[in-house]
Amino acid sequence: MGNDGRKKGSERARLPRRVVIISAFIIILSFIGMFLIDSSVKEIRNDYRQNISADYMNKEVVGDINRYVYKHQGLIYKYGNEYESGVDVTQVKNDIIECRNEIKRLDNALGKNVGDMPYEKIYNEFHEMLDGYFSETEKIFGVSDGRDELKILKTIDGELNPTIVSIIDKVEKLDRMITDNTNKSNDVMANNLDKYRFGEIMIIIAIMVISILGFVHCIFLTHDIINRDPMTNVFNIGKVGRDISRMSAKGRLNDYSCVCTNIKGLSIINQRYGTKSGDVLLINYASAMSGLLRRNERMARIGGDNFLFFIKNDHLEQLIPKLMHSETEIPTAIGMKKVNIDNRCGIYPISNGDRFDDILDSAYTTLNQAKRGAEGDIVRFDKKHLEKVFRRRNILRQFKKALEDHEFIVYYQPKVECKNNAIIGAEALVRWKHDGELVPPFEFIPVLENEGSITELDFYVFDRMCKDLKEWLDAGLKPIRVSSNFSKHHLKNSDFADKIIKVIESNNVPREYIEVELTESFGYENLKAFTDFVSRMNKEGISVSLDDFGTGYSSLSVLKDINVDVVKIDKTFIDRICCGNVINEKLLINVIHMIKDLGHEIICEGVEKEEQAEFLKQQECYFIQGYLYDRPLPHDEFTERLKSPVYR
Ligand code: C2E
Ligand code: CA
Ligand code: CA
Repeated sequence: MGNDGRKKGSERARLPRRVVIISAFIIILSFIGMFLIDSSVKEIRNDYRQNISADYMNKEVVGDINRYVYKHQGLIYKYGNEYESGVDVTQVKNDIIECRNEIKRLDNALGKNVGDMPYEKIYNEFHEMLDGYFSETEKIFGVSDGRDELKILKTIDGELNPTIVSIIDKVEKLDRMITDNTNKSNDVMANNLDKYRFGEIMIIIAIMVISILGFVHCIFLTHDIINRDPMTNVFNIGKVGRDISRMSAKGRLNDYSCVCTNIKGLSIINQRYGTKSGDVLLINYASAMSGLLRRNERMARIGGDNFLFFIKNDHLEQLIPKLMHSETEIPTAIGMKKVNIDNRCGIYPISNGDRFDDILDSAYTTLNQAKRGAEGDIVRFDKKHLEKVFRRRNILRQFKKALEDHEFIVYYQPKVECKNNAIIGAEALVRWKHDGELVPPFEFIPVLENEGSITELDFYVFDRMCKDLKEWLDAGLKPIRVSSNFSKHHLKNSDFADKIIKVIESNNVPREYIEVELTESFGYENLKAFTDFVSRMNKEGISVSLDDFGTGYSSLSVLKDINVDVVKIDKTFIDRICCGNVINEKLLINVIHMIKDLGHEIICEGVEKEEQAEFLKQQECYFIQGYLYDRPLPHDEFTERLKSPVYR
């Protein structure tokens, strides 16, 4: 196996980043495009505004000039005509001067705005003409008075004063030119817009082309992200699921098998050489295996070191050895190292019509069977594997409701002193009454243990036990100590002891009648928690028993270090006595003596035969729990038992 797979894997890890970069690029490009378009529009608009606003201003001024020129002419006529009839000459003269000043002012204003305009020449002529005419009249007003003045004006003006007429003519010319200029400005803007529109279309087309290319590229990248495992680059379960469902719908799965594999010892590689080396192993394995598949075969990584294969049946026998054992090189601190990749696998032969989820379930369950190791590394599917899984799932699904509906009931198995056959205690044992049947604990306790819900059930049973105990004490029956089982999961909870005390107090039962059973198979990691818990119970005056003694690994150290009140010797010890095996008997005798020496009380579980009880009696081990006396009894039967607490 080469480095190709590793390269592909690390490339794939960058895919999401590439999608982000491309999207960001397209967004930035669009912004630049928008900015360019916007600034071009602004430029055109500014140009137009400048031109058109000068035009409008000039047009207005020219209009005003025109008006005042006419007014001026009118006044002169009036002046001339009214003169004969004795008009107020001074008034008319003032009006003419004011009108003339206004024309001058407007002429100046217009002058500011004619630079660079096409009518500049006309304006200059008009301006000169106006200047000449006004200085002439100025002169007349300046040198004359009374009649002479009027005569001169008249002489100047005549009936149709030619200067005024040509001034009016020039003003009209100016006005026309300004209108032309405005129209030209409009045309220029329309032209500019047309030219600009071409540029705009080019920019939009460029952005669209780049966006489409980027989009298509992103589709491919996203397709990869959605469909492939980011580390190994092989398809992920979602993609293979869709392919397989499609093939199944077309009836093309009949000659296929689903193989679920799991790499052995990857965690050791991770610990020894680092997770990067573990990743390389996975990537190389995936790459090598995908290279072995035929066109219509599929492979997916289903998380961690598990892979899924859909293989043609006629290819299976040839492929399995390669899936199971291969070699690769991984990087270590001192260079590349050759390692073996060994697998376990579960094989499920597919039938047409199987749903993908069911195929996966079956193959995975079969792999789990291989992981347990009892059937070898290659396990072929068997219906019973699946039944177990379905049973487990049903239990978990129904548990909460069963608890609410009080489907769990508590049985009591008497503990007896075999010296005098008297009941000295009992153990609370849970039963599940489901659909009219009693489900035994071994069916559901391990499932709930696995999932953690057992802690809820334990306290339910414990609470029920306290209530029953209170009832028996209140009824004046023989007071006995009753034990309740608690899973090792509780040791993870720091408030375990507090919760026990709370239940005891809420039910108002004396602590001396309570015993907490904890199994010894809790492992070293919980030893400290167990020690702390037992010390607390010692202080609180609540008994603790070590259940199933002899089945775990930590028995001796637990006995030495932890001050439990009672040790419950497991049934497996009892089963091995009274059947002619002296060594087993000697072993039990020594165990009993050792426990006694360490100061613990002993009770033997699973005593079924008279001779077993006799043997125990000889060892002065008198407390017994077993079918010899009683099976676990329901509440009412056990109450009756308490009423006559000695066996005959
Ligand atoms: P355990 O705590 O070791 O309980 C003793 C088991 O041995 C009981 O099985 C009892 O019926 C059985 N037994 C007692 N005497 C004899 C005998 O002479 N012969 C045979 N063949 N069996 C005998 P059971 O009631 O089926 O309970 C099985 C296990 O389920 C218990 O083993 C305990 O580990 C667990 N369990 C039961 N109730 C609870 C509970 O409320 N919480 C937890 N965590 N576990 C519980
Ligand atoms: Ca027990
Ligand atoms: Ca036990």
